Amino acid sequence: MADNTPRELEKVVIIGSGPAGWTAAIYAARAQLDPLVFEGAGSRTMIPGGQLMFTTEVENYPGFKDGVTGQDLMLEMRAQAQRFDTRIITEDIVEVDFGQYPFVLTSSRDKVVLAQTVIVATGANAKWIGLPNEQHLAQTGGGVSACAVCDGALPHFRDQVLAVVGGGDSAMEDALYLTKFAKEVVVIHRRDEFRASKIMVDRALSNDKIRVAWNTVVTDVLGEDVITALKLQDTVTGEERELEVSGLFVAIGHEPNTGFLQGKVALKQNGYIETPESWRTATSVPGVFAAGDVMDDYFRQAISAAGTGCMAALEAERWLAHGGAEAHAGSASG
Ligand code: NAP
Repeated sequence: MADNTPRELEKVVIIGSGPAGWTAAIYAARAQLDPLVFEGAGSRTMIPGGQLMFTTEVENYPGFKDGVTGQDLMLEMRAQAQRFDTRIITEDIVEVDFGQYPFVLTSSRDKVVLAQTVIVATGANAKWIGLPNEQHLAQTGGGVSACAVCDGALPHFRDQVLAVVGGGDSAMEDALYLTKFAKEVVVIHRRDEFRASKIMVDRALSNDKIRVAWNTVVTDVLGEDVITALKLQDTVTGEERELEVSGLFVAIGHEPNTGFLQGKVALKQNGYIETPESWRTATSVPGVFAAGDVMDDYFRQAISAAGTGCMAALEAERWLAHGGAEAHAGSASG
């Protein structure tokens, strides 16, 4: 049985368990930094392993010529980190004190951990349209979801008309996935052009079960216990209409998971962690590094997240080796 107990003072604590977190753990563990990973407690919209746990086939992660499922990829990464004795705690970090040194981290079950370096790799979370009934039906399992791969196969959605909102790769991927179960998938997009990559757009548009409502926004979600229809508005003519659907899948992008970092480390205007130097993962707080989607609002790919996880672990290792901890201890208030 693996020993996951925190040490009195951790050299590296990694927060998050997507490709960035696990890659950081593999590198830190192999550098004998004995990393501790807080992999997250899981919620309705996020589970340990991050967004890839909601993805079906990953075809662009090098090394898998026939593709790999997102879940398998993450479980392999986790197992690889464990192979080098990475310790894992299935809790969130809910509070950080970067004003003291060593840093003080508090978990969702009130574990307090002291750390010389921290790698934040908490990723990003699905965005919602922001309609009251959208939230109500999403929380009560009433046919509204931000994760087609998690929910699409449920009996309620079989042979029905389903809607996907969004125009990026996620929307294309969700729409294609849902065609396995649905009678028809209507992609609702607010513009007359998709943002998604050409290959994904071509695949979606050539699928007989998918049709697109261009220049259209959802203004209301109808249905008391389960969704029955959407109120739509044409963004060009202003015309309103209803579309009967048995499911709504929202795929309009993500927000970085930086809520617990407000005021603790510099964030960009859009909420992503700022890493002031290019090709570096160091944040505004010496000894705190950021990797993956939580600091990357541009590439947001599994492979780029893994790359920055590697960079963060190497930077943390070098920062410790070059006396960063001693210098920081001298200047911090704790
Ligand atoms: P995204 O690229 O940011 O696209 C979000 C889409 O939602 C856009 O089309 C946007 O419309 C629309 N949108 C945003 N807010 C909206 C709102 N309030 N109401 C209605 N529509 C709204 O996000 P993503 O699709 O999740 O992709 C994120 C990143 O992951 C991208 O880099 C993508 O390439 C990558 N990804 C890759 C794959 C793959 O390769 N298989 C799969 C999934 C994601 P506008 O276009 O008008 O802004």
